[in-house]
Amino acid sequence: MRSLVVDVSLQDRPPSVDRLARSLAATGLPHPLLVDAARAAIAAGDPDSAPARARTLHRRLLTPVINATGVLLHTNLGRAPQAWSQSARYSNLELDLDTGERGDRQTGAPDLLARACGAEAAMAVNNCAAAVMLVLAALAEGRDAVVSRGELVEIGGGFRVPDVMAWSGARLVEVGTTNRTRRDDYVAAVSDPVNDVAAVVQVHRSNFRVVGFTEAPRTAELASLGPPLVADIGSGLLDSRCGWLESGPPPWLDSEPAARQTLEAGAALVTFSGDKLLGGPQAGIIAGRAELVDACRRHPLARALRPGSLVLAALQDTALAYLRGDGRAIEFWRMAALTPAELRGRLGAYEGLAEVVTAATPGGGTLPGVEIESVGVSVPGDHAGALRSRPRPIIARVIDGATVADLRTVHPDDDAEVAAALREVAG
Ligand SMILES: *Cc1c(COP(=O)(O)O)cnc(C)c1O
Repeated sequence: MRSLVVDVSLQDRPPSVDRLARSLAATGLPHPLLVDAARAAIAAGDPDSAPARARTLHRRLLTPVINATGVLLHTNLGRAPQAWSQSARYSNLELDLDTGERGDRQTGAPDLLARACGAEAAMAVNNCAAAVMLVLAALAEGRDAVVSRGELVEIGGGFRVPDVMAWSGARLVEVGTTNRTRRDDYVAAVSDPVNDVAAVVQVHRSNFRVVGFTEAPRTAELASLGPPLVADIGSGLLDSRCGWLESGPPPWLDSEPAARQTLEAGAALVTFSGDKLLGGPQAGIIAGRAELVDACRRHPLARALRPGSLVLAALQDTALAYLRGDGRAIEFWRMAALTPAELRGRLGAYEGLAEVVTAATPGGGTLPGVEIESVGVSVPGDHAGALRSRPRPIIARVIDGATVADLRTVHPDDDAEVAAALREVAG
């Protein structure tokens, strides 16, 4: 019976498709994908294009790349890089090893993060957009949430504050103007009897700056309005003192809000991403007052937004590194803290290539306009495409007609490979 079925399918298929597909086997792609490439090539009347089509399919697969852009949290390259490997083993994801009873996945990494930023409690969801949505659903569903018109922003990748708030079921009460919002504007909204204000929301304008005639109340001024203050700080800087860096806070951190200090200033909850300045996996963290975090954990949406064990295990590694004060174990901070002298110390691997001063950036929709002095090498001409097409793609920038590799985001183990690639494209 079995062979009969196969025979029928082979009869249906023009033999040349199958032969063409088999000729592409060296790509390593599974046969059905090679059949797709072969079919498309034949349908286009251009069988010779089959290898290129197979290559295109192959290049859509997730693969490690070398980030030579100097953008530390490159949104297109997965934001914060993280080493991770795991064998096929179970974990105690929801098992209490002491009692043998059902455990809670939210007591692992989230508790460690709470400890690291001085919060009473924390929980993790899939990203910061989900964190904001869950917080508003848990605290303000069917009620009002007050937010400044100056903070109704869109942050990279389509996170639009008004949309996320609407999905949560909370009603948005807008106060102030784009450039100026005062504490009195919030007071008026909170005390207006037509409103039923359940939360005040403060959103960090992560990816842009409003300069000039501007005014916005500080967190501490909004914490005393009555309803709980939810501060979406976005970037996941845990503590502005950066105790995990031997050299202390880098100057470019500027006025980036940090979880610990925002909570100390009176925010009831903070929300932030796992894969921006926190340097962990994609996740969203909700941290702050225990009873409010608990309300989030109990909300039915929490089930739909919860991360799996892969993410929670990676987040746990990140949190433990913070608690050890070991910024070097967090790849983002290891790269961010490199001094220009340390970067120049690697130039030996790039002998014969021109050294350039570069400006690395935090990226990831954080700290707009912030530059971190860095070191790069350059070759004349635009070779970005050739570098991308290598077996291990190298992503570089083209600045003033030259291709530049910024050493800050290149792992030192990859220096020789990047140097060889640059020499090759430069001819
Ligand atoms: C980046 C950011 C978000 C969105 O975070 P994701 O983890 O990408 O969902 C939300 N709010 C602020 C303030 C941000 O900076």
